[in-house]
Amino acid sequence: MLEVRGISFSYAAGRKILDNVSFTANPGEVLAVLGNNGAGKSTLIKCMDRILTPLAGDVLLDSQSLFALTRREHARECAYVPQSPPGGSMTVFDAVLLGRRPYISWDATARDREIAREALDMLGLGPLALRRLDELSGGEAQKAAIARAIAQEPRVLLLDEPTSSLDPRAQHETMQCVRRIAAGRGICAVAILHDLNLAARYCDRFLFLKDGGAYACGGRETLTSENVEEVYHMHVHITEYMGIPMVVPFPNINL
Ligand code: ADP
Ligand code: MG
Repeated sequence: MLEVRGISFSYAAGRKILDNVSFTANPGEVLAVLGNNGAGKSTLIKCMDRILTPLAGDVLLDSQSLFALTRREHARECAYVPQSPPGGSMTVFDAVLLGRRPYISWDATARDREIAREALDMLGLGPLALRRLDELSGGEAQKAAIARAIAQEPRVLLLDEPTSSLDPRAQHETMQCVRRIAAGRGICAVAILHDLNLAARYCDRFLFLKDGGAYACGGRETLTSENVEEVYHMHVHITEYMGIPMVVPFPNINL
């Protein structure tokens, strides 16, 4: 189990962006991190990936602190996909192979290349393997970054708005892929999502961030219209169409 315990963070002395945030995520599941712009979602997963150092708190994986690991050990446990992945002249294949860096001592082995190739195929990027990163569309670059994180074979996969620049079909394919990998490999996937319908459809667990704290966290029973309204200040109905959960917003109805 992944346990985030009492994380607090501020960028400068002053306002606390995160104040004592605690929640758990289960292996084999996808957890959606939900909340308005500026709620601290990106900050939270950057703290979890040790890009930012929290003022207090810890992240435990099977009761072991991720903060106590060396950088290299940490990179074997935890992979992070930023919202806007960097470009550059590297090929897609080489960028994905970089995901193997925490395992490589001298040079990439045939097995490392095979793992990179498999990760590319999972995201349907095989045909783009030799393309330069800066020649990709935003959506393709986002998929390449996800493939790199998958090649890292982490036990915790952190994704910052992984579907934000994807076309509708690719959004579903990517979330299906994340779900399949989480379930198949028994890893904890944590995805910041703005699309409540994607979250409802593909995530097992939901963390609502509000005012620097974890407003609610839990399974499907947590995805209620009351919680969504409280966090997003927008009236919604939660219903189902052919067994698919749907969040229908009514932005013009005053709460
Ligand atoms: P979210 O991802 O939920 O939209 P962020 O975690 O990016 O929110 O930001 C949370 C708050 O922290 C916002 O008020 C934002 O303005 C502030 N913030 C983000 N990055 C920085 C930074 N590098 N320096 C100072 N403040 C920041
Ligand atoms: Mg963000």
